[in-house]
Amino acid sequence: MDSRDVALQSVMPTVMVPRYAELEELDTPGNRILMAENGVWLEVCHAWLYARIPVSLPLRIPVPYGVIYEELRFGFGKLPKAMVAQFIEQARVRSPNECAAWGVWNQRTDSWKLLMLEERSVGTDHIEVNLPTLEEGEHRVMDLHSHGLHDAFFSREDNQDDRGETKIAGVIGNLDKPEVTASFRLCANGVFLPLPFESP
Ligand SMILES: [Zn+2]
Repeated sequence: MDSRDVALQSVMPTVMVPRYAELEELDTPGNRILMAENGVWLEVCHAWLYARIPVSLPLRIPVPYGVIYEELRFGFGKLPKAMVAQFIEQARVRSPNECAAWGVWNQRTDSWKLLMLEERSVGTDHIEVNLPTLEEGEHRVMDLHSHGLHDAFFSREDNQDDRGETKIAGVIGNLDKPEVTASFRLCANGVFLPLPFESP
């Protein structure tokens, strides 16, 4: 096989889900495609995440594979509401301009920090930022940005930016109102899963 194919396929191998045994979950960071009786699935493993998400309907022919189910587990306890509240405060100060931050989770200490991102260019409907470097054991879990006075929704540009990344994306809007709007989703290698958000 061409060495480029070997490299490509090792990054995202396809696994046949066994019918008579448990699937051995991926337990090192990476992605796999799972061929199951009930469809084609994406499996994602990170220090902070294990997810199994259906991405395609079952094949139209009988297949010798087993059945699997959806799974979504975070390596941390709950989503850090206090940190999101801190971001909303910062976003209010900077409104009507946008702003952006990372929610960084430290795997060793199981703690969170909010890292406001340095802006290269910013306005009321766009933002470009420099990406920080993280220490060992730190993971960018949340990628937050604000929409100033506009609603919280994922724009076409946001969708473009979030393709191929694994993170929790959050957008906060209507920062001039007492009740802001918010939208959160898990981005897993091109798949977007809406996440519930209760205002902090
Ligand atoms: Zn946006």
